Amino acid sequence: MTTTAPTTAPARSTDDIEDAGHVDVLIVGAGVSGIGAAHHLRDQFPDRTFVILDAQDNRGGTWWTHRYPGVRSDSDLFTYGYRFKPWRGPSIAAGGEILAYLDEVIEEYDLGQYIRYQHRVTAASWSAGDRRWIVEVTRGDTGQRLRFSTGFLWMCQGYYNHAKPYRPEWEGMDTFEGVIVHPQRWPEGLDLSGKRVVVIGSGATAATLIPAIAGKAEHVTMLQRSPSYFFAPPTTHELAVTLSALDIPEEWTYEILRRQYIAQMDMLARMSVETPEDLRTFLVESMRPLLPEGFDIDKHFTPRYRPWQQRIAVVPDGDLFAALRDGKASIVTDTIETFTEHGIKVSSGEELPADIVVSATGFNMSLLGDVAFTVDDEPVDFTERVTWRGVMISGVPNMAYVFGYFRHSWTLRVDLICDLVGRLLATMQDRGATMVVPTLRPEDADMPLRPFSDPENFNPGYVMRSQHILFKQGDREPWTHLLEHEQERETLPKADLDDGTLVYR
Ligand SMILES: Cc1cc2nc3c(=O)[nH]c(=O)nc-3n(C[C@H](O)[C@H](O)[C@H](O)COP(=O)(O)OP(=O)(O)OC[C@H]3O[C@@H](n4cnc5c(N)ncnc54)[C@H](O)[C@@H]3O)c2cc1C
Repeated sequence: MTTTAPTTAPARSTDDIEDAGHVDVLIVGAGVSGIGAAHHLRDQFPDRTFVILDAQDNRGGTWWTHRYPGVRSDSDLFTYGYRFKPWRGPSIAAGGEILAYLDEVIEEYDLGQYIRYQHRVTAASWSAGDRRWIVEVTRGDTGQRLRFSTGFLWMCQGYYNHAKPYRPEWEGMDTFEGVIVHPQRWPEGLDLSGKRVVVIGSGATAATLIPAIAGKAEHVTMLQRSPSYFFAPPTTHELAVTLSALDIPEEWTYEILRRQYIAQMDMLARMSVETPEDLRTFLVESMRPLLPEGFDIDKHFTPRYRPWQQRIAVVPDGDLFAALRDGKASIVTDTIETFTEHGIKVSSGEELPADIVVSATGFNMSLLGDVAFTVDDEPVDFTERVTWRGVMISGVPNMAYVFGYFRHSWTLRVDLICDLVGRLLATMQDRGATMVVPTLRPEDADMPLRPFSDPENFNPGYVMRSQHILFKQGDREPWTHLLEHEQERETLPKADLDDGTLVYR
């Protein structure tokens, strides 16, 4: 068996640590969230000093990590793009196009000078006496250790571990004579020609990868334990075609399509709760004409869960189904019994021959970039903490984090949070406060705590596997999160920063 291995920083024998200076705001992560945060910060507070630290060697976060064939968004880019930078490409974009868009943002707003790559943040310690965070960093290229200090820590680290993808261990893997790869660590130049490929997984990654490689490999088998929901919209929205024919200015087109997509996502999110059976029927039936005659939709494409309890995978123009129709790909819904020398044996007894196995099995969630937090010398046990509006954490001063939407585009929330953090920083300035800490009010003290994600609401494997390491939510505002954009675009801009849940000093 050959597998792709993570890269490691060179070991360093000394434990010397170099002072890297002080910044007003320290942003962790140069993905969609960190780049958005940097732009908004600079726009609203041009005099504040800041730096963006990222463990990877380039920008883009998710879009830099994931370089497997066909990697693309499954949100439309009119809402995945920032509010301040119109998207001009097709609705569904390839990973490379998203990186190019982020490059334009970095260039247009001159953000490159603030980014330090290969800077992994390992620890952050708050001192109320000094009113600052001490942030410890290890460089990935040299192994050098650095110490930054900052007045405000802005965690834009995303939700999963970029270095360690999730790949279950299956019996017999060590006997398999082919190659096992994970989409999070796709080997450059992997030759698929004439190869039989089995892709384990049923989510968005499997759905994008399979049509991209189906023409290159000899055959691709999608092996799923259980089905997911798919939605197959056209790559170009018919409204975009109409607007283009009318020669509408680009900025208007952007705004109109953005609103159209938001309305569409609102409707789907609402239907998933109010009329889930209608939505289920709509999604399942819309696949039927795209699949081969007599295809067993019940078995392969009818999930057991309610639509939107896990992400709905978008298949633009139904390209996954085209690969199934053409016979270049096939689908098996079963559980893995064991790997064999030449493939995978499933519970039915069937053996799926494979030269390459792609384990599209998802992520390991990471809690705030796996940074070890201490507040006044006490290690922070996040499992005992509660979110403040999905932006801050109880008892953790001067720290905001970005967590986007699961159902709408992630970035819609980035813009909203940046506005909120901007208001927060301005409020601190107006009050002459150097510290703000979300604090449970007396009436919140006995509030029942709920898990990070209510399984009835959102329950994909990677979230459910990690609930035990994540912070909690309460049963009332402002101690709740993972709300819908339809609600938050009203509540976040009006959020009361003086309701007693934020203590300023
Ligand atoms: C294949 C794929 C497709 C997706 N498609 C969509 C989509 O269509 N629509 C959608 O809304 N969402 C999508 N998502 C979710 C996606 O992760 C978010 O949209 C978004 O990219 C998250 O951006 P981010 O900047 O918050 O985090 P990330 O993209 O995860 O970037 C975080 C960055 O922080 C860095 N970092 C983390 N910890 C540390 C540390 N301790 N020190 C220093 N740096 C650190 C990481 O190296 C990384 O570069 C997709 C995810 C995947 C994997």
